[in-house]
Amino acid sequence: MSTTTPADPPAAPPAATSAPSSPGTPPPSSLDPEVAARLRRTSDGLVAAVVQEHGTGDVLMLAWMDDEALAATLTTGRATYWSRSRGELWRKGDTSGHVQHVRSVALDCDGDALLVRVDQVGPACHTGTRTCFDGRDLGALDVATADGEPGDHP
Ligand SMILES: [Zn+2]
Repeated sequence: MSTTTPADPPAAPPAATSAPSSPGTPPPSSLDPEVAARLRRTSDGLVAAVVQEHGTGDVLMLAWMDDEALAATLTTGRATYWSRSRGELWRKGDTSGHVQHVRSVALDCDGDALLVRVDQVGPACHTGTRTCFDGRDLGALDVATADGEPGDHP
């Protein structure tokens, strides 16, 4: 004799859980929501940061920021990045002493790159060169030199 109650409910379908964050949507951070809304992040939640020396205009390096890194950069006066190799926030200079004091931060036209202007202490590059690009010229064809009129270059 069966004691099964006909009213037993069928197995419930999996309850709708909170949707996983879609790619490029970071967890809540201390970043100003108005700024956060303007960012166009990579699929891993990062925005490229071009770092320029305030005094000379030289491009020092390229790094990446997540929302927390940008928030820290905007509010602490110290350039802070996301280290893709270490998988953690990286406040420039904490281990090397080669601190970057932030002078300004701008977002580019389509929101996927930042221009961070800094006062650099010591070399910007971890290899010890002043910028990450010093001594690493790839020898691109200089069209002005190749095709230019004689006398173009003093
Ligand atoms: Zn470098």
